[in-house]
Amino acid sequence: MRHCGTGDLARALREAGIAEPPANGPSFALPGDQPRYAPDRPADVRHVDIAVTLDFERKQVRGAVTHRFAALFESVRVVTLDAAELHIEEITLAESGAPLEWWSEGEKLRIQLDRAYNYGEEFGVRVAYWAQPRTGLVFVAPDAGNPDLPLQVWTQGETEYHHFWFPCHDFPNDRASTSLAATVPASFFALSNGKLEEARDNGDGTKTYQWRQDIPFPAYLITLVAGEFVEIQDHWREVPVNYYVRAGREADARRMLGRTPAMMEFFTQRFGLDYPYVKYAQIVPEMFLGAMENVSATTHSYRLLPDQRASLDYKPEAVVAHELVHQWFGDLLAVRDWSHTWLKESFATYFEAVWMGEELGEDQLRIEMRDNLDAYLAADKRGRRPIVYNVYRKNGNELFDRHNYQKGSRVLHMLRQVVGDAAFWRGMARYAQRNQGREVITADFERAHEEASGRSLAQFFEQWVYKAGHPEFKVGYSWDDERKLAKLSVRQTQTVNEQTPVFVTPLDLAFFVPQSDDEKPDGDGFMQPQVMRVQLEQAEQTFYIPLARRPFGVRFDYGGWLIKTLEFEAPADMLRFQLRRDPDTNGRIEAATALGEKGDPDSLAALEEALFSESFWGVRQAIAAALAGRKSERALATLLRALDEIEEPKARRGIVAGLGEYRAPEQSDLAERAAAALTALLAKGEPSYFVTAAAASALGKTRAPGAFETLLRYVDTPSWNEVIRGGVFAGLGELGDARAVEPLARWATDRTKPMDARAAAVSGLRVLAATKRVDQPEARTRAVEAVAFALSDPWEMAAGAACAAAAAWGDARALPALQRIVAESPDERQVRNAREAIAAIQRGDAPRDETRQLRADLDTLREDNRKLRERLDALDAQADGDRKRSE
Ligand SMILES: [Zn+2]
Repeated sequence: MRHCGTGDLARALREAGIAEPPANGPSFALPGDQPRYAPDRPADVRHVDIAVTLDFERKQVRGAVTHRFAALFESVRVVTLDAAELHIEEITLAESGAPLEWWSEGEKLRIQLDRAYNYGEEFGVRVAYWAQPRTGLVFVAPDAGNPDLPLQVWTQGETEYHHFWFPCHDFPNDRASTSLAATVPASFFALSNGKLEEARDNGDGTKTYQWRQDIPFPAYLITLVAGEFVEIQDHWREVPVNYYVRAGREADARRMLGRTPAMMEFFTQRFGLDYPYVKYAQIVPEMFLGAMENVSATTHSYRLLPDQRASLDYKPEAVVAHELVHQWFGDLLAVRDWSHTWLKESFATYFEAVWMGEELGEDQLRIEMRDNLDAYLAADKRGRRPIVYNVYRKNGNELFDRHNYQKGSRVLHMLRQVVGDAAFWRGMARYAQRNQGREVITADFERAHEEASGRSLAQFFEQWVYKAGHPEFKVGYSWDDERKLAKLSVRQTQTVNEQTPVFVTPLDLAFFVPQSDDEKPDGDGFMQPQVMRVQLEQAEQTFYIPLARRPFGVRFDYGGWLIKTLEFEAPADMLRFQLRRDPDTNGRIEAATALGEKGDPDSLAALEEALFSESFWGVRQAIAAALAGRKSERALATLLRALDEIEEPKARRGIVAGLGEYRAPEQSDLAERAAAALTALLAKGEPSYFVTAAAASALGKTRAPGAFETLLRYVDTPSWNEVIRGGVFAGLGELGDARAVEPLARWATDRTKPMDARAAAVSGLRVLAATKRVDQPEARTRAVEAVAFALSDPWEMAAGAACAAAAAWGDARALPALQRIVAESPDERQVRNAREAIAAIQRGDAPRDETRQLRADLDTLREDNRKLRERLDALDAQADGDRKRSE
């Protein structure tokens, strides 16, 4: 599903200094959360028939839904459907039209059948109703801030939202075929699952689109998107592959979606199973966030669709691949319940990276895996949980987090290294073929890979999927020249408990061994290492590896495929070698970081040289960060030169971010030089939105005189997805200056501003809070009130950003607005955001402002001083007494 926290756009935004609100927060389970299980199915749903009319004026849905059931219990007298806030008009037996009795219990609709139905007997139930849904189905219409918005409808079922607009078995443990008829204004198009059977003009200014999907699937993957769209036709083999966008975005659509047929072929080959559905459509409505893999008809957010300038350094292809992978894993193989969600989200996250690696090269796969590890490690710090996990508040939405996406993607990558490439793909094909059209649990996947590889995988799955955490390695290296032995001592330092074990795993060590005694480490080009696989089994282990010569470099976990943290103290000469000649990007990135920390002249010179000679942007970013971390004049000069010479925009983001590390007043001279370069960059204009935004954000970070005024000049710059304003608002926040409160608060609360700009301004307020520098009561009050107001923003991104901002300010005055979300919002994503913010405020772990902290420290010092003086006085008095006595 939705995919906001991952992928290229998220990375680009992060590097532009515009972090999206965190996807999940502190401890995983929050107070009151319970283990959840799939519901019983007294009767199997065989077919769902939906016939609805969309009333754009009243924002209402009106229609009838007929379920065909087959009894599964021995004797079924009552069937239950999920239905929230639906206005039921009549419920009848489908065959005879006889009215049936019904009643509501919370979000459950209980229907009394005309008689008891025995196991296997079939019957149909028709519900006529209307709804004005608060979620599940969204009406888009122009408003003051967004006058260009068209009239549209889109739906979002995952996880359990469809029962807010039609009655259904709203849980993935039942699959049915569907038919859906949507009546819309005659100029509109309506997209749903499967085959378009008919588009009928009703002669009254409306048109009815009739769709049918025969391969059964869970209700949450039903879709309905309606509006005025342009259709772009393509195909894969015999299967129609169509793209639907607003008029004028055709070129952007081709740019984003044009590789779809190639991806369909690629995944068909890899998964050993043809793309299963009669068509594949992708549609891009407004106000939709992320992307959703509805069966045969994916919905993408308008935010993912790049214009020409955005496509310079943002590739939406990963999301396209992600949703396509779900057509197999998630749709054809549906998860039985949300606790096994990784069987779709990890898969989509991993195989999108595999596709990107196929398109852009191995470096791309490695950097995405690296990003995913970092994302998981950050989430793990906030709350540890196993990947397979069933404790949550309501509908499983909160499980769609970095454990299920990023960590799981790393588990699959690791499984591939453990069993080997051929066995891995064989296992994937076996799993896909055997389980197509079924609900899956993790055991199905484990068994398929055991059979395909011959390996016992119980321990692998227990460690990485059913338990939580990861190994935290401390590794020491030494070379015994006499015996020609490399010694590696390995310690697992994680706290071992019921949740987190000592990990048993294979591990790849790599040694860069020269061919002769004359060979020098500073040759040209990559050097291939000797890679050997060893088995880790204990908390402490030492490996002695005989080598022909002292190696130029040594790598622990070559390829970087283990889920881990690593402290590996290597000598500077080995790191310098690694930075230049290790073919594994992980090795070059790790070397850059470590050399920056060492900071000796040779290491810095090596970093400077590599910044210009390195070919991969991911490593260049790491080098720029390592140099900037020195905060030296020399590093600044290097970064400024790189800004002149290096054009690749992703590397430029790293360089620009590095300039933001020079900060006034601590380093006024250098900060002003950095700020001058950033100001010049903004004035000159930069091809990339993201580099421009990164420059604005970095300028704020320098806190140089004049930065505030400069940033204000760019507040009115509109751009694709408001990326530039996002950077400007982040920069205003980074200033840590009370003067920034007013412009940010004004934009955050003005509903006549574009929705994405409001969301960006709220994020700016969060950044401002995180600087812990705004202590003035009036500024604080203005900021907190603006955040509290933004919590009620109808745009979910703005309200979500406001939850994160409320947590950052840590001010109890935001609590009532947060509690209102928990009590009233039907959107569990937002409820989770609000609950995390409430927990953070109540824990009081929100950042305290610096002044207050300094005052507290000063008080402690004064107290210590007073005590010392008392003791001195006492000692003096004692000495006096002693003297007197001795006199
Ligand atoms: Zn997904």
